[in-house]
Amino acid sequence: MSPAADPVHTLADLENWSFAGTALAVVGHPIAHSLSPAMHNAALADLARTDPRFGDWRYFKFDLAAADLPRALALFHAQRFCGLNLTVPHKVLALDHLVARDAVVQAAGAANTLRRTDAGWEGFNTDGAGFAHGLRDDLGVELRGAAVILLGAGGAARGAAVECLRQDCRQLWIGNRSAAHGAALVAGLRRVFPAAALRNFDLAAPPAGLPADSLVVNATSLGLQPDDPAPIDLLRLPRPARIYDMIYHPPSTPLLRQAAELNLPHANGLSMLVQQGVRALGLWTGAAASVDVMRRAARARLSS
Ligand code: NDP
Repeated sequence: MSPAADPVHTLADLENWSFAGTALAVVGHPIAHSLSPAMHNAALADLARTDPRFGDWRYFKFDLAAADLPRALALFHAQRFCGLNLTVPHKVLALDHLVARDAVVQAAGAANTLRRTDAGWEGFNTDGAGFAHGLRDDLGVELRGAAVILLGAGGAARGAAVECLRQDCRQLWIGNRSAAHGAALVAGLRRVFPAAALRNFDLAAPPAGLPADSLVVNATSLGLQPDDPAPIDLLRLPRPARIYDMIYHPPSTPLLRQAAELNLPHANGLSMLVQQGVRALGLWTGAAASVDVMRRAARARLSS
């Protein structure tokens, strides 16, 4: 079964919601490719084997356009959804609709996990911690002391950038297509991390002065579509040390293929997906979900 096999719900479904159990959901546009329902439902079934409280918990998938987010958040709250994951394009848009934000959301200006309270939605960002854990698992990289070239300035890049700075990376260079988005992200980060070695650059024109032996991270959406080019030509950079692509579906991207040709250690974003998911599920359930169960479910769904 492909990721698209999980039913995709709409705003109309939400208006007429009749599921009687405890509901969670991922919200995005597009969303059909998301592995999150497979991963979270496997973890919930596993938790339910030892704790019957989780027997009626289910995780759903909603395709909602940006303009529908305010109404949808009100409806999810009224329908008593316990928690939400947000993905493209909602991570930044949701900020105006939160009653509380954790420290990472405050610094990053992006939330990927919402938790219901009676007063409204609390916002969290588990992307950065998932990213750091995925890097460690797959590439043996620690962010502390690293020189990081981060490609992208969207929701995922924001969580990763904050994690790099919280963990005292040596340098952080953020390359983005739209100069204004890159500059806005860097300006916001400078307010929280005034002493950081932090620069932005035009993705199409990597400047002289980029560090060698860097960790290059793709947090753009280039690579999701079959005809996408790589976000950057690695030959235009001083020789990097390692390449991480946050994209996990497809499992290989033009950037990762070039890394393989250049014999550079590289990994895709599957570990990050699993690790951010484990943390989100912990926030909603208060329980420690099995990383192995979630990873196996995500891999099985990808390869089916
Ligand atoms: P956003 O839409 O918030 O940001 C998209 C980013 O990609 C922006 O920086 C945008 O630049 C850039 N971009 C889009 N199209 C192009 C293009 N044609 N050329 C150059 N740059 C482009 O998305 P997210 O940040 O939420 O997601 C980004 C990627 O990270 C996605 O591929 C997503 O699948 C992946 N991801 C993986 C996760 C994991 O757990 N492994 C978690 C979250 C995301 P601009 O500012 O110019 O528009």
